[in-house]
Amino acid sequence: MRIDISEIIKTPGAKIAIDETGTIEDINDIYGLISVTGPVVFKGSLININGILSLNGKALCTYETQCDICGEKITSKLQTDIDEDLIKEQTENINDDQFVYKDNYLVLDKILSDIIVLNLPMSHRCSDKCGIICSGCGKPVTGTRCGCKDEQPIDPRLAVLKKLINDDTEN
Ligand SMILES: [Zn+2]
Ligand SMILES: [Zn+2]
Repeated sequence: MRIDISEIIKTPGAKIAIDETGTIEDINDIYGLISVTGPVVFKGSLININGILSLNGKALCTYETQCDICGEKITSKLQTDIDEDLIKEQTENINDDQFVYKDNYLVLDKILSDIIVLNLPMSHRCSDKCGIICSGCGKPVTGTRCGCKDEQPIDPRLAVLKKLINDDTEN
């Protein structure tokens, strides 16, 4: 994803809209745990603030991973806000943490992949119930079921409520 920034780099205050979609190879395999295989979408704007380019917008991608508890494959979406200042690349005083632009082009891939990696959740469960011990059969629920055919275990927050109601009726 290469953006032509020639229109704005010489004019403080100049702004361009960006609406780009592309695949980023760097994030096909993140720590062997998460894979962003589909295209990454970025929508936003780039504005020249006295030579610093301010990138604002949202990145959206779909990723694949697996449930930490049962190993079931999960496909999930990540949408993340982006608000970064980009400086002109210089040969000296280069700070690795700073995103840069060079000449008349800005390459979005590195910026997007870094921000996506930072914002991906590192733990995943296929469902809220996965791993909870079923009150019916005493087995952990994995995937969407526990093995017993009765109702699925109730949400612990609801269990508290239910207990309160029961206590109330006993009094
Ligand atoms: Zn699971
Ligand atoms: Zn059960």
